[in-house]
Amino acid sequence: MTKITNPANQIEKQLPAELVNFMQVAGEVAQSQGQSLYLVGGVVRDLLLGRANFDLDLVVEGNAIELTRQLIEIKQGEITTHPRFGTAKLQWNKWSVDLATARSETYVKPGALPRVKPSSLSNDLFRRDFTINTMAIHLNPSRYGELIDLYGGRDDLEHKLIRVLHEKSFTDDATRIWRGLRYEQRLNFQLEPNTLQLLKRDIPMLDTISGDRIQYELECILQEERPEKVFHRAEELNGLQSLDPALKGNGWLAEKFKLAQQLTSPNLPSFGLYLALLAYRLTEEQSGHLISRLRLSKSVAQTLQNTMAIKTKLQALANPALNPSGIYRLLHGYSPSAIMANLLAGDSNVACQHIRLFLNKLRYVKPALNGDDLIRIGIAPGPRIKEILQLLHQARLDGKVTSKQGEESLVKKWLANKE
Ligand code: ATP
Repeated sequence: MTKITNPANQIEKQLPAELVNFMQVAGEVAQSQGQSLYLVGGVVRDLLLGRANFDLDLVVEGNAIELTRQLIEIKQGEITTHPRFGTAKLQWNKWSVDLATARSETYVKPGALPRVKPSSLSNDLFRRDFTINTMAIHLNPSRYGELIDLYGGRDDLEHKLIRVLHEKSFTDDATRIWRGLRYEQRLNFQLEPNTLQLLKRDIPMLDTISGDRIQYELECILQEERPEKVFHRAEELNGLQSLDPALKGNGWLAEKFKLAQQLTSPNLPSFGLYLALLAYRLTEEQSGHLISRLRLSKSVAQTLQNTMAIKTKLQALANPALNPSGIYRLLHGYSPSAIMANLLAGDSNVACQHIRLFLNKLRYVKPALNGDDLIRIGIAPGPRIKEILQLLHQARLDGKVTSKQGEESLVKKWLANKE
């Protein structure tokens, strides 16, 4: 059981003074207008768990856009508003805070976006995914720091449980299935038994979710420290198979994700690289199906297609007698993420050495001479220029020439041999 600490103390202890000060000012302004302001959602959960999270989500029983407009006069920053949803974002220096008018949601059809209307805090909290995300902290000066826990969030946090608020939660919005697995694995919590049953029952509802929304959930999972744990769990519960029946979240994926993190450190692997590894063992047809299911952008789709194309060249790349220009011919033009995916997933040492050489060196090699230089040396403008530049590039790659002067002599030699 996790020991949960007093929320009011945690605000001062864990959040930067700039944000604490902002919340106090915002609470005062809201109160002076007879409105109530709360800190809600993930940041409250993380404050209670002692985990770093500076993404402030504020909810106001009143009008969030008007409140934000008043705050900007005090705070000096930029404001972005979405009147349809009653939300605003305030940004200043390196800080950003989301403010929303308390609202309720009704789901007309599974998977579709909900209808929203202004409402009370309790309804706003009731529309949320899991109890651990339903807690709020009052920010009005008269009740500053008071925890509002209407749905048993604190108790579930202490018992490390992920629990939905009602039986229809996953049917209303099946993206919550992915969200639940993500929290479960990130926090090392467990799905509460009834929630687990509902999740298993509602796995088919994942088919009601649009490609864009599923893609967003995958992006969130791939920002986690250990994304493979989420895929492994999803496979266990038949959720991964809803993306493609052939996808696997087993130990192979864990090993490759770890290598990908080492390769791109200190940055996280790109979405394309991670996805290429997840889809690596699919056939070309299955991979094509995944691309359309997720409605992937052109560039990520291309990474997946390139990954498949390079896979067919691994045998040729495993030839120890291949020279650098041969390696270049096999790999140039493909997306770096697709090449990296093959480096990490391929099982031939020689092929991996060749891919590494391409990534670290060959892809940057260029001849020093350009078309104008060739004309100056005496070659007539026309297709011959392109041919010679290609020959020079090849000579550079294979180390037959290493300087601009060397290239000039080579071109002159070729010319002399021609005449
Ligand atoms: P993270 O820690 O991953 O950033 P978060 O808890 O801050 O997660 P967000 O995705 O930023 O989550 O969403 C903010 C809040 O909105 C959540 O805490 C949750 O209460 C609510 N929420 C987000 N998505 C859904 C959803 N699909 N259904 C219900 N509530 C949601």
